[in-house]
Order: sequence, then structure tokens, then C-alpha cells
Amino acid sequence: MGSIQRTPRARASAASWVTPGREGPVAFVVVGAGYLTTTQLVLWLNEPAPGGSGLWPAAGLTLAALLFLPTRSWGWVLAAIAVAELGGDLAHGHPLGTSLGWTLGNCVEPLVGAVLLRRFGNARGALAPLRQLLLFLLLAVLVAPVVGASIGSATTVISFGAPILEVWPPYFVGDALGVLIVAPALLALRTRPRRRRLGETTALVLASLLVTAAIFLADGSWWTTSTPYLLIPFFTWAALRFGLHGTAWMSLAITVIANTATAAGYGPFAAAGAPGGHAVTLLQTYLAITVASALILAAMVSDLSDREQVERALHHQATHDHLTGLPNRAYLSTALDAALTRCAVVGGRVGVLLCDVDRLKRINDSLGHAAGDLYLAEVASRLGGALRRGEVVARVGGDEFIVLIEDADAGAVDAVARRLMAAVNVPVLLPPNKEVTPSLSIGVALGDADSSSETVISGADHALYEAKKRGRGRIEHFGDRLRSQLRERTQIEEDLPQALGNGDIFCVHQPEIEIATGALFSFETLARWQHAERGLIPPDRFVPVVEATGHADRLFSTVLHQSLASQGLWAEQLGFRPAVAVNVSALQLGDLELVDTVGSALALAGASSGSLWLEVTETATADTAALTVLSALHDLGVRLAIDDFGTGWSSMARLAGHPWDVVKLDRAFIAPLGQEPDAEHLVRAMIVMAHALGMRTVAEGVETPLQLEWLTEMGCDVAQGYLFSRPVSASEAPRLVDTNGLWIGSSSTPDRPRPEHVRTRLSDEQGQTSSR
Ligand code: C2E
Ligand code: CA
Ligand code: CA
Repeated sequence: MGSIQRTPRARASAASWVTPGREGPVAFVVVGAGYLTTTQLVLWLNEPAPGGSGLWPAAGLTLAALLFLPTRSWGWVLAAIAVAELGGDLAHGHPLGTSLGWTLGNCVEPLVGAVLLRRFGNARGALAPLRQLLLFLLLAVLVAPVVGASIGSATTVISFGAPILEVWPPYFVGDALGVLIVAPALLALRTRPRRRRLGETTALVLASLLVTAAIFLADGSWWTTSTPYLLIPFFTWAALRFGLHGTAWMSLAITVIANTATAAGYGPFAAAGAPGGHAVTLLQTYLAITVASALILAAMVSDLSDREQVERALHHQATHDHLTGLPNRAYLSTALDAALTRCAVVGGRVGVLLCDVDRLKRINDSLGHAAGDLYLAEVASRLGGALRRGEVVARVGGDEFIVLIEDADAGAVDAVARRLMAAVNVPVLLPPNKEVTPSLSIGVALGDADSSSETVISGADHALYEAKKRGRGRIEHFGDRLRSQLRERTQIEEDLPQALGNGDIFCVHQPEIEIATGALFSFETLARWQHAERGLIPPDRFVPVVEATGHADRLFSTVLHQSLASQGLWAEQLGFRPAVAVNVSALQLGDLELVDTVGSALALAGASSGSLWLEVTETATADTAALTVLSALHDLGVRLAIDDFGTGWSSMARLAGHPWDVVKLDRAFIAPLGQEPDAEHLVRAMIVMAHALGMRTVAEGVETPLQLEWLTEMGCDVAQGYLFSRPVSASEAPRLVDTNGLWIGSSSTPDRPRPEHVRTRLSDEQGQTSSR
């Protein structure tokens, strides 16, 4: 990640090398001393070269100084040039006017270079990217020396009467080369040199120096003026492998040797013996071309590697997870696609393990997100550490990882799942000081040439869901059973909208009976789906799909309308309007629309709100929005029952805070009545508390006379269950009660024994009222 910033970075600006505000005077001293030293050295070497010297390092030094410094300090640099140049010229006995002319040329030249670079967007004299280097070559190496050489050689021509064509070219080439060779070496100091092995560096330095020495220090008559081109491979080597930094410094070193040797009469150029200092000009032209080419090559390489680095960093960022450093979902899906494609070519199967880290939410909630992150990172590193060849792990969600296994079968995948489980299952100490042992739930699926990555992952997802349903820390395989379950679910999802419209989803009704009187309390309306291919689908299988696909409202109004319509028919048959109860999905309690739906359905059916019960599961009532909706329903006159009580929060406080009329005790508590003393205590306590809060109680799932006896003894108000009747069709329902609303037995279970006291209580009334 950090590598994205690893493009050449300013190592330190010149200003930070010295105390702020003191750069000017420091520059004055450094530039002055450097200027004086190099110019005197060059003049001494090139003596008696008339009309300018071969290489003018001062041109590069002064330009670099300007580019290093803020413009407010430029005056100090110009002052240093003026003092060193003027002083040197006068000391050599040149007339004042001539000295002033040369000084002007040497001040104007770097100034023109620096100002032009600034004007065209390369204020600091950057040598990369390539655009900046080309600007540098054009403005600083060509244009500025044209100006400087013109002023300087004009001075020489006027003072000494030398021919302009003899003076100007060497003057210009010397300045241009001074800038080309010296400025990049100094400017490169601001960038980090590319890290290379010591061996390669030593090899390049030794080899290039050796060849340079062989060419320039040997007796020049052995060589021709094209021999120096043997150095080109070394320039290329430097450019390709050592960047601008290495190239600039190697150029400087070769130039110093070549220039000194040629001035001293060694090497091929001196031997060529061109008259009037032209040997030097030939050398400089050679150096200018090779060095400029090498710098351009180095800049291009640096561009490429910068771009590559950025691309690599971006790619890493896009395909890896920040917290764990593991590959992410994007990476995984590419890898999975590739693996499945390989299956198509070479056969075999791919294993996908979807691992869910158990209890992460609890750790986040109790120890904070920092501890949660630590926990996850630890699990991630254990997963990574447990992998073998051909296995990849990716983090694909908050607490979900996928391990991809190439060339797998069911046995191998199961072994990997167990290995991962064991690797993770070691205690970890979380701050402030809590030891937690991580565990995984794993869903496993295999894919082959015919699978898509979506189907494999959704298979693993389905298996994971099953694993978690059976308790945490388990492994579940996506096999035939789950496959047909998933197929069913998919089909249910597809067929649902149509079934809601065409009457395939219909209602059955189950009576709830008042225990003390045997009178009908209400009919609970329960949904069924008669599916063309799958037959009768119970609500446990399709209601979750209804909710997951956002159809809860439609199911509810379908059931409500059917229920109220049946209620109207029953009223005509029985002479009174029996209450009906309709189940409400938890999701619907978030929206006041439910109140409108209920109100208009009641109005349409001409039913009174008091004859409608709505049953809501306990867990649905957690938030305040639910309370608002429930209160509005209650204000409408609708009566409310809390369903499946005891399976959720079982919070008495929440019971007290809501407008409930009835508590329905879940059948899980009723089933063990008469067998487990604890169940009796629990049911008794719930009944007592509900009564204390002013609510009535309904026992669900009453199947035996014994259960009914217990409930009677405990004071439970209403019972519902197979003992009285299974859910029946709308036409059967009214036959379960007489015109006084008393239960007369289930037509579908005629010989079911009735509980003693109910039988006696009902026996005489039955004789009088049985009028069907
Ligand atoms: P629930 O609301 O608790 O409904 C009672 C369930 O218990 C019904 O199952 C009923 O047939 C069953 N039952 C009744 N007496 C006995 C008994 O003595 N023994 C046993 N073992 N079971 C008994 P059903 O009809 O399969 O409904 C299951 C669940 O589906 C319902 O539980 C309810 O949560 C949901 N459901 C049914 N219809 C609808 C509906 O229209 N809308 C919504 N949202 N949910 C519905
Ligand atoms: Ca119910
Ligand atoms: Ca229930």
C-alpha cells in the first residue's frame, strides 16, 4: 500500500539543509567557492584555448543553485557569480569592460534557464517524467546557453576582434555541456537513488572507469574518434538499471576524465589534433549526444517503472483487504473463475470453503471494535498459516473468509476444513485482558467445469447457513439434500408472486377454545400453498421466502382478506361473528402502512375491529417503531396477541410496555407438561405474570388431555391444538362450533377422546344446541 508513494520523492529541499532564512548567504559562499574553483581549473586545463573553454561546469552549478533555492534567494546566487567571475577575470588581467560583459553573460544564462523552466511548469528542474526532462534539455541546455554564449562571445569579439564563428560555437557547447553534465548530477541529489546490489554497482563503476581510462588515457594514436562510442553500453546499463541518479553521476565522472585527458593531450580527440581547440569541441559534442540520450533513456525507464509501481500498488489495493492483508472478494472471484476454467480444460473439481468466524459481533459489542479487528486479524493469519500448496484464502466479508482449493474432492475438502478449524481453535488474548478461543462455522461446496462461480459460492453459503443453524463450530457440505432444498427455495422464490395473485396460496383455520367454558375464542388463520408441482407447501417453508423477497405485505393482505371473507360467511351460518386471528410478519411492524391495510380491509368486509386479532412474534417487538404501529392498531380497536412467547426475549418488561391483550405460550413449553416439573413451573409462572399484567393466556399445541388438565389447573384461559382440531378448511370450520359458539368437536378427528371436564361441561349444552 505504502508503495504507491514510493515514486521519486524529494529527499530534502535545499532550504532544509540550512537554518531557514540563512540559505541565501550559505548559497553565496558555496556557489562563489564552487564557481571560482571550477572556472579556474577549467581555464588552467584549457590554456591556451582561445575564445572560450571546452566545458563550463559553472553554468550547471549556477543553474542548479537557482533551481534549489526559492526566488527570494536568487540575488545571493547572482552576487556570487558576479564576484567570482569578475574577480577571476580581473585577476587574469582582462579589461573591466570585457570582464563585465562576460559576467553579464554568466549571470543572465542561469537566470534565463531557471525562469523559463519555472514558466513552463518545471520550477524545480525535475528530470522525470520524460516531459520534464525534455523541457530541461530544451530550455536549460539549449535556449539559455544560446543567450549566455551570445552575450559572452559578443564581448570577446568586441574586445579581441576574433571571428564570431570561431568564438561562439565552443562557447555555446561548453556552456550547454556544463549544464547537461553538472546540473543533473546536482539535481539528482534531491531524489532517492534506486536501490541496487553493491555487486552490480561496483561492476558498473569499475568496468566503465576502466574502459574510459583505456580510451582516454592511452596513447591516442591507437584509437579513432569513434572509439569512445564503446562507452554507450555503459551509459545504457546505467540508464536501465541505475536511474537518473546513477546515469547523471556516471556521466559526470566520464566527462571529468575525458575532458581532463583530452586537455592534457591524451585520447582519440587530442590525437585527431583538430586545430584551434576544435578537438575539444568534438569531444564535447560526443559527450552531449551520449549523455543526453542516456538521460532520456533513464527518464523513460523511470516513467515506466513509476507507472508499473503505481499500477501494481493500485492492483494490490483493489484486490486485497486492508485489515488482514489477505486477498479480497474481487481477487477471489477472479481466482475462482480461473480455477473453474482450468477444470473445463484439465478436468477435476474445485473446493470452496466459506468460513464464518463465530461470535465476532459479540466481541465487537463487548470488547470494542479494536479488539474485534485484532481477533479477525489473528484468525486471518492462522488461516493463512494453515494453508498448503494449491490453497488460497480470501476475506470476502466482515467475518467471512473463503478458502479455495484446487483439484479437490469431498474427502480432501473435508480434511482441509478440519485442519483450518484446528488451526483457528487456539485461545487468543484480547485487550484489555480477555481470553477467547475462536471457532469457525464452515460451509463447503465443490465446483466443476459445469459450475459458475456464483453457483459454487451460493452452494457454500447455503451449507454455511445450515451449519450455523445446527450450532456454531460445525462443517456442512453442500450435498444432494441441500441442493434440492436450495432448488426448492429458488423455485418458491420464482413462483411466489404468481401464487399470491392466483389463489394458490389459501387459508386454513384452527380454533382456539376457552378452557373454562368450551366456547370458541377465535379461529387462527394459517396460510397454505397448493403448488402445481410440489404439492402442499407448509408456511414454515415459504413464509421465510415471502419475507426475504419483500412480499410480507402482500401475503398479509391476501390472508387478511380471505380470513375476513370467511368470517362473514360463518357469521351468516352461525348467527354470530366469530373472532379471527391473523399472523403478522415482524417486518411489517416497521411501517404504519399496516394500520391502513387493516383499517380498509375491515371496512371492506364490514367487520368490527374487535373481532380481529393480530398475532405478532415476540422478537418483532424490539424497537420503538414497532411500538408506534402496535399502539395505532390498538387504537383502531384491533386486539393484539404476542405469539410464540418464551422462544425469544421473554421479556416481561417488554410485555408490560406494549398494548398486548393476549400472550400465546409457545408449544415448546406445553409439550413437556406432565413430564418435566420445570416445564410446569415455567408455564405456571408465565400464566401468573401475564394475569398480573392484565393479559389473558393462550396455550399453543395442546395435544393431550393431560396437558389440558394441567393448563386448566394452572388457570390458563384458552387452548389451541390438535386435541381440539387441526387447521381445517373454511367450509369445515363452522361445523366445529354450535350457534352459541361452543366447541362441538372436530369433524376430521371424530374419535379423539375429549378431556373429562370439557366433556362434562359441554355434554348437556351439546344436546340442546346441536342444530346443524
Ligand atoms: P404459529 O403462528 O405458531 O401457528 C401455529 C402452528 O402450530 C401452525 O402451524 C399449526 O398448524 C401448528 N399447530 C397447531 N396445533 C398444533 C398441535 O397441537 N401440535 C403441533 N405440533 N402443531 C400444532 P403452521 O400452520 O404450519 O404454521 C407455522 C407457522 O407459520 C405459524 O406458526 C406462523 O408463524 C407461520 N404462518 C402461518 N400462516 C402465516 C401467515 O398467514 N402469515 C405469517 N406471517 N405467518 C404465517
Ligand atoms: Ca400464530
Ligand atoms: Ca405460535
